[in-house]
Amino acid sequence: VETANQIAAGEVVERPASVVKELVENSIDAAARHITVEVMGGGLTLIRVRDDGIGIRPEDAPLAFARHATSKIRRASDLFQINTLGFRGEALPSIAAVARVEMDTRAVGEKIGVRVRVAGGGEPEVNVVGCPPGTTVTVTDLFYNTPARRQFLKKPTSEARAAVAIAEKLALAHPEVAFAMYLEGKRLFATQGNGELLAVITALYGLEMGRELLPLSDTGEGWALKGYISPPWLHRAGRSHQVLIVNGRYIFNRTITRAVEDCYRTVIPSGRYPIFVLHLAIDPQKIDVNVHPAKLEVKFQQEHELAQKIGVAINKTLHTPRA
Ligand code: ADP
Ligand code: MG
Repeated sequence: VETANQIAAGEVVERPASVVKELVENSIDAAARHITVEVMGGGLTLIRVRDDGIGIRPEDAPLAFARHATSKIRRASDLFQINTLGFRGEALPSIAAVARVEMDTRAVGEKIGVRVRVAGGGEPEVNVVGCPPGTTVTVTDLFYNTPARRQFLKKPTSEARAAVAIAEKLALAHPEVAFAMYLEGKRLFATQGNGELLAVITALYGLEMGRELLPLSDTGEGWALKGYISPPWLHRAGRSHQVLIVNGRYIFNRTITRAVEDCYRTVIPSGRYPIFVLHLAIDPQKIDVNVHPAKLEVKFQQEHELAQKIGVAINKTLHTPRA
């Protein structure tokens, strides 16, 4: 069982950034309005995610670490109508299999909280604790019991950068949530949680970028697109500022990325990349998020047709003179 857990953990927990993603997604699923992320030592020393969400009732708290114990899917048919970011019930047990995890949680309406501790996939230890409503998960000594996995990691600064990049994407995906990100005890960014995507972009990428980006919005049959794209003269050496969010989930899709970049092919130098932060709202029946446990890749029905329409919307925005 121990080995099985560690293998399954490898699917979900590749690196510190994956832990950040899973914990923050749980906080979002818990309807948190404020989420704080702390990373120390490249995420190997410590990752902490604190939220003010619905919390977990004392009797359910240890169950959160049991494999496939999700509170988000009740029947098979729910799989076709996934409204939460998580649904597999794999993240917490996987993280706890390869690290030391401490979770303080207090459910809405409860007077007390509980602290659950699990290390290396062992039995959860549960204690009553005083804590504010919401949940704080602290992960320390990541991969302490799987040295092989630790070997595949990049140096701590690179791992930290990847963790920050994921936190940024989650903040961009959820302008209604106030995020604060701390690295080695220093605050890197904070968003207001006022629901405005442009305010998040400004908080993360700077005032100037917030001013220069072009707003875009378009709708089609069963989908709506809204967001910001760079004007032709603004570009980057890499794809770090390309963000596609589908129904609140940050994803990567090659076809759509290509379609967007094609719109810029003649207007920016080769080897340079446009900036975009796009929210696509689409009929959940038209997508399949169930492709990989890390859930970064999403398949669309009629993907090329959709990408082409997005390209049309981008071109329209690029070639409309600014008011
Ligand atoms: P999943 O998100 O796929 O359901 P996880 O392993 O990530 O699985 O979490 C297991 C369960 O623990 C969730 O279904 C949820 O009930 C509970 N949980 C985890 N994190 C939080 C949180 N921050 N706030 C409230 N409940 C949480
Ligand atoms: Mg989850």
